[in-house]
Amino acid sequence: MNTQTHLLVAAAIFAKPDQPKRNTALIIGALLPDAAIFALFGWAVLTGVPQEVLWREIYFSEPMLTLTAIGNSAPLCAAIALAAWTYARWRTGRPLPALPTLTVLGLAALTHLAGDFPVHVDDAHPHFWPLTDWRFRSPVSYWDNAYHGRAFGAFEAALGITLAAILFFRFKVLWVRALLALCVLAYLAVPLFWYLQFAG
Ligand SMILES: [Zn+2]
Repeated sequence: MNTQTHLLVAAAIFAKPDQPKRNTALIIGALLPDAAIFALFGWAVLTGVPQEVLWREIYFSEPMLTLTAIGNSAPLCAAIALAAWTYARWRTGRPLPALPTLTVLGLAALTHLAGDFPVHVDDAHPHFWPLTDWRFRSPVSYWDNAYHGRAFGAFEAALGITLAAILFFRFKVLWVRALLALCVLAYLAVPLFWYLQFAG
């Protein structure tokens, strides 16, 4: 799915208006699996590498394959969440401690992976890296029109805008509302960007 949808899903599940640490953790966790992709995109813009070469060649070669495998590894995200939670249990002596920051981060990253799992075809990540290179090749793509990309895109935008509206009413803080508005805007801006890059 698109980055803003990952952010909105994780926020809808984990965000609490009076807990800035928890909210920062969920934002970082939701973005972390795509961090290598952002870095690659920034590098390409700075060095003038064409988008076509970037997404058809560089993205599918090393070191990007390993970097995206790390970011999208369910066992790694689960291990971070579980280790932090186990430590909190041991430290507080309580069987069910409040979710530690790193656990929220790991769980938010897992919601990102769960969202991506059913909507990647040729660009599927090895979900259980480094345990296995197996990847689920879905019949549905979140972007490729040859694999229902248009229909899923419409569904994803509807879901994202609905979640943004719900969060908008829950959070009165200006920066949160500005971020939500940016997320909604991205449902127009991202397809427009790809259209301009690859049209004609
Ligand atoms: Zn992703």
